[in-house]
Amino acid sequence: MDEGIAVRDTEFFRRWLEAATAAVEREADRLTELDSPIGDADHGANMLRGFTAVRNGLAGADPAAGPGALLQLAGRTLISTVGGASGPLYGTLLRRTGKELGEAPEVSDAALQQALQTGVDAVAQLGGAAPGDKTMLDALVPGVAALGTSYPAARDAAQAGALATVPILARKGRASYLGERSIGHQDPGATSSALLLAALADTAEGVR
Ligand code: ADP
Ligand code: MG
Repeated sequence: MDEGIAVRDTEFFRRWLEAATAAVEREADRLTELDSPIGDADHGANMLRGFTAVRNGLAGADPAAGPGALLQLAGRTLISTVGGASGPLYGTLLRRTGKELGEAPEVSDAALQQALQTGVDAVAQLGGAAPGDKTMLDALVPGVAALGTSYPAARDAAQAGALATVPILARKGRASYLGERSIGHQDPGATSSALLLAALADTAEGVR
């Protein structure tokens, strides 16, 4: 399959968000475990609450909504349902990406990568973090950059980025309060970001 020329329709985005919700359901306990030593042990619960609401919201969404409108709806849903830092950050990612996609009924892979790039930039601006600060950006930035190569490359780069947060000292978010004690633990948000990009790659490969 030549993914380079594929065009992504609304159904593709519905399947991505459903795959993301399923991954969050599967991994919620692990995300919360990761958030225990360097956070407040709620990341899995936050993601589960947010993505369950996204799934419910999409079920009732206007059937005529395009990819951009769907992502904006999902982003607004995350912002309004998740209390933790990750809600506004992921909500901004999806809202900004959706806004960038505009009203087109189908988008190219290149347009999707560019829109996601804009979304990631908005996350960095909102949270004031950069790669290397031990946050979700450590998976999102390399993952979205690797989308220029392929979807599987994006999955691998995001996963590698999440694993690479282990030796980092946290400079943003709750984990930063721990200073040196944040070293040696994988960042929960980078881990959930890797799940979201893996869900995207699975969807592009037609795996559910
Ligand atoms: P909270 O920290 O409010 O309990 P969560 O536990 O749901 O929220 O999410 C924590 C994750 O959010 C962290 O692991 C980190 O990846 C991400 N995060 C926190 N602050 C920031 C920030 N300023 N910029 C980017 N990501 C951040
Ligand atoms: Mg937390």
